[in-house]
Amino acid sequence: MTDAATEGPLFDTVVIIGVGLIGSSLALNIREKGLARRVVGVSRSVENRAKILELGLADSVTDDAAEAVVGADCVLLCTAVGAYASLAEQIGPHLSAGCIVSDVGSTKGSVIADIQPHMPEGVHFVPAHPIAGTERSGPAAGFASLYKDRWVILTPLPGGARGPVERIAELWRACGAMIDEMDALHHDRVLAMTSHLPHLIAYTIVDTATQLEDDLKSEVIKFSASGFRDFTRIAGSDPTMWRDVFLANKDAVLEMLQRFSEDLSALQRAIRWNDGDALFSLFSRTRDIRRSIIEQGQDDAKPDFGRSH
Ligand code: NAP
Repeated sequence: MTDAATEGPLFDTVVIIGVGLIGSSLALNIREKGLARRVVGVSRSVENRAKILELGLADSVTDDAAEAVVGADCVLLCTAVGAYASLAEQIGPHLSAGCIVSDVGSTKGSVIADIQPHMPEGVHFVPAHPIAGTERSGPAAGFASLYKDRWVILTPLPGGARGPVERIAELWRACGAMIDEMDALHHDRVLAMTSHLPHLIAYTIVDTATQLEDDLKSEVIKFSASGFRDFTRIAGSDPTMWRDVFLANKDAVLEMLQRFSEDLSALQRAIRWNDGDALFSLFSRTRDIRRSIIEQGQDDAKPDFGRSH
């Protein structure tokens, strides 16, 4: 935690571009813990700008990202990743020397490729990804405890200065998060497996159900047991955000999908050939994984699902 009371805030002016679930949860922490003297929100919609002020998420709001970043010492990109390249291009010429630009995107290789070329000399870009989320979106969806005891993965650029990385780590620690660092490619492969593939499966299962004959479909919905219900919750996640994630992490997702398809075929074969031992042994292995996730405190005691993205 930053010792704001004795050392002053971590940043003077933090600009949050995209005050949705992730951005508003950050804003709540920054405001409640005094991590910045001033918070500026950037939103395209009139309604969201009014909501951001009404909820006290920022001191001021604008729809002009370029204007917002003038003089700021920290800029956090919190929109869907598909908007990063154009936003970075817009804000790049207006960033002050020494400013730290960070993001929260669920993919890291694409985000670095989209943002870094627009960063002027003297501006530090620190890519980050909080492994925390829910299926809800928009400025009213945020809550301050979202990041408590959750991981935030930083994927610093090779050869970059350490000071800015430490300050972004400090920001997240002040929000209650734990920090890990890895390279962007590794991040994208890990997350393809732990988050992107599960979302793809959820979207597929729910879509398969919607294509059943009408009588079967209505009963699937009526009697949806926790299994299907959980999938519908995940498949209710924001379409823009997830479209962007799959397009941005194409290679890693396709690799994991290929592995998954092979394993699914093996399972299909075990059922066809009444191979109960194979089924039992696989289900026992997966139960062990579940137990180790609970032991590491990363279970679903909080309102999210697999700490998305
Ligand atoms: P969200 O609730 O939909 O919020 C994103 C906000 O960005 C929207 O409210 C939208 O507000 C704004 N926005 C979109 N395009 C914009 C643009 N071109 N310019 C300015 N603002 C724009 O999404 P989120 O769940 O917070 O996700 C945000 C980011 O966090 C994504 O990159 C995602 O990959 C990452 N992430 C999400 C989760 C999760 O569980 N949701 C977890 C970890 C990381 P206006 O319409 O008002 O502009």
